[in-house]
Amino acid sequence: MSCSYYAPQRLEELLAILAEKKEKAKVLAGGTDLVIALQEGNLDYDYIVALHKIPELKGISMSGDTIVIGAMTTHTEVERSSLINANALLLAQAAASVGSPQIRNAGTLGGNICNASPAADTVPALIALDAYVKIVSKGSEREMPLEDLFLGMGKTKLGCDEVIKEISFKALPDGAGSIFVKLARRNALAISRISVAAIVASNEYVTDCRIAMGAVAPNPFRVRGAEQAWLGRTVTADNLDICVEAAFQEISATLGQRASAIYKKRAGKALIRRALSIASGQM
Ligand SMILES: Cc1cc2nc3c(=O)[nH]c(=O)nc-3n(C[C@H](O)[C@H](O)[C@H](O)COP(=O)(O)OP(=O)(O)OC[C@H]3O[C@@H](n4cnc5c(N)ncnc54)[C@H](O)[C@@H]3O)c2cc1C
Repeated sequence: MSCSYYAPQRLEELLAILAEKKEKAKVLAGGTDLVIALQEGNLDYDYIVALHKIPELKGISMSGDTIVIGAMTTHTEVERSSLINANALLLAQAAASVGSPQIRNAGTLGGNICNASPAADTVPALIALDAYVKIVSKGSEREMPLEDLFLGMGKTKLGCDEVIKEISFKALPDGAGSIFVKLARRNALAISRISVAAIVASNEYVTDCRIAMGAVAPNPFRVRGAEQAWLGRTVTADNLDICVEAAFQEISATLGQRASAIYKKRAGKALIRRALSIASGQM
């Protein structure tokens, strides 16, 4: 396969190229997923359009209580950001768990999202944070909850002339606990077999409970029944158990009868218990 390579320097230039070339063009971020797919001959594009020179796609900032991360921000930058560590610890942990240092230096948040893998580590953390994505194309801009972006494994609602510009979410309130945990094979570059992102805030009662899971369904998702099971109740081990049991029922229904289901149900339950215990300060 041979194709032409573009490296636009401004967002406007990128969007003009995508509007003209449409489905013949593919955007390249850090390349850690895309280059492998291209090498395997799974994709056929006439134009590769690199995003790395575009300043509008980079950086981490905070305005009021909203944090905005450019799609081209790398996992290393997220992992090391004092803003993210102070206001969304689970996202820093998720970014830190991606692959190896080389992969984290090259791989970006936007690429992790748009690759739409069930096991994308930053996605459960971002879904737990109620993150939104800003999607841009020539002459238009729209925003949607990240959770609504996915259409199954490897598929998103992005049009061929659209890119994610940035991801935004509210900083966690003072006192909220959060964590990202993943189970993977014993291998430094292991892809998640199951992951859990959890946020718990409480006074005497649980005032906020958010749980997202990765690698148990075609795309990461919120375990909303379990969240509701703990909300408004006291932060006790008994009520944590009720929440964990509700989560177990939800992931069991999602996993169905597939071969890995028995392992994933049990391991998922244990991982959720661990995540909620830590996020709620019981461990
Ligand atoms: C050895 C190895 C280990 C890995 N380990 C992990 C791991 O532990 N956890 C994990 O989650 N992932 C892992 N990955 C997968 C990969 O590194 C991540 O998904 C990474 O974040 C992808 O980002 P990227 O910038 O390299 O994307 P690219 O490969 O450049 O692009 C990926 C896809 O997203 C599209 N895209 C990229 N940016 C945008 C944008 N702004 N708008 C629209 N479309 C866009 C591209 O067109 C392409 O379809 C691993 C990969 C390798 C090779």
